[in-house]
Amino acid sequence: MNKKNQHFDSKVIHAGQSFEPVTGAVMPPIFLTSTYVQESPGVHKGFEYTRSHNPTRYALERCIARLEGSELTEEQDASYGGFAFSSGMAAISTTLDLLNTGDHIIAMDDLYGGTNRLFTKVKERSAGLQFSFVDLTNLSLLENAITDKTKLIWIETPTNPMLKLVDLEGVVNIAKDRGILLACDNTFATPALQHPLDIGFDIVMHSATKYLAGHSDVIAGILVTGNPELAERIRFVHNSAGPILSPFDSYLVLRGIKTLSLRMRRHCESARRIATWLNTQENVELVIYPGLPSHPQFEIAEKQMQIDGELAGGGMITCIIAGGIEKSKSFLEKLEIFSLAESLGGVESLIEHPAIMTHASLSPENRAELGIEDGLVRLSIGIEDCGDLIADLEQALA
Ligand SMILES: *Cc1c(COP(=O)(O)O)cnc(C)c1O
Repeated sequence: MNKKNQHFDSKVIHAGQSFEPVTGAVMPPIFLTSTYVQESPGVHKGFEYTRSHNPTRYALERCIARLEGSELTEEQDASYGGFAFSSGMAAISTTLDLLNTGDHIIAMDDLYGGTNRLFTKVKERSAGLQFSFVDLTNLSLLENAITDKTKLIWIETPTNPMLKLVDLEGVVNIAKDRGILLACDNTFATPALQHPLDIGFDIVMHSATKYLAGHSDVIAGILVTGNPELAERIRFVHNSAGPILSPFDSYLVLRGIKTLSLRMRRHCESARRIATWLNTQENVELVIYPGLPSHPQFEIAEKQMQIDGELAGGGMITCIIAGGIEKSKSFLEKLEIFSLAESLGGVESLIEHPAIMTHASLSPENRAELGIEDGLVRLSIGIEDCGDLIADLEQALA
């Protein structure tokens, strides 16, 4: 069967993969080598030095490139436009390194806290970039924010922690063909649900630490582009600055991706059930979940987040516990199956308090503007028995 026509469930296992040519090993060996022997100066098998090329990293990069919809051939780019980084932040930083001093970036207002910090506390100073943060749930604000200097639009959808959604097609309609790069942090949705490149985006970014690797045991980042010229520019910075993923960690992420489709189905199904249940609880003031009709951008979720043509709202839920900080703290302490921890997207359920934990680096005013209240908690629904998860929430809410 033509690989391109395979269903996503098959692609997560086979995309971009070939058996190891010497032994036929089904999984790529972990090539722990920094350098490769040459027959004669400059005569080699395409591998010179692991910062530039590594077969285990290529296996991961080719796989995620195909899952995100890049159709680049090996001649156009050795890893089909996929690039693996030592962290999600390194992938974002490399995207900014494609720009020049003085360039202007429009970013979603509700962003992963570390992304906001990299933009405002590092790159503004070190690279002379300028950032505007705009609530892109309202796309009329995008048109007004674009200037002659705008060279990148940075989207996160769903956002963290408010799970706001941005209409990717709407962004493409406004900004395409104006010489502006369009990049989407696809960490929360993953290619199991959402395909920004197919919609017209230039770059997809992942914190592979989360759903792609899926087992809370590795820090990794990804960029994918389907544009050969852009792939060349990313490859140049990736190799020049060197924020690469190690062969061992590449193997871990590739291994995690094999079950991405199975896991995402379960994450989405359990999250939908739990969000629906939370909505009926007296001690819960508000439930935010893209798969609930009460979500402010529910229509966007229906349009761009799907598994097998059906709405899939993802594995993250945000809610407000009645009674403010004291009640939300005691709720978090009483949970037994949910672990109180930062991060998300692993097989185990996690819960966290953004105002104190992941988003503590934002100013109180900024948090208030975004709606990150003291009673707000963020749940990453794992793949445990869903009834057990609801029972755990029930006893802690009581
Ligand atoms: C975690 C995360 C990042 C940062 O990735 P790291 O792998 O922790 O460096 C970026 N964006 C989103 C949406 C994230 O959740």
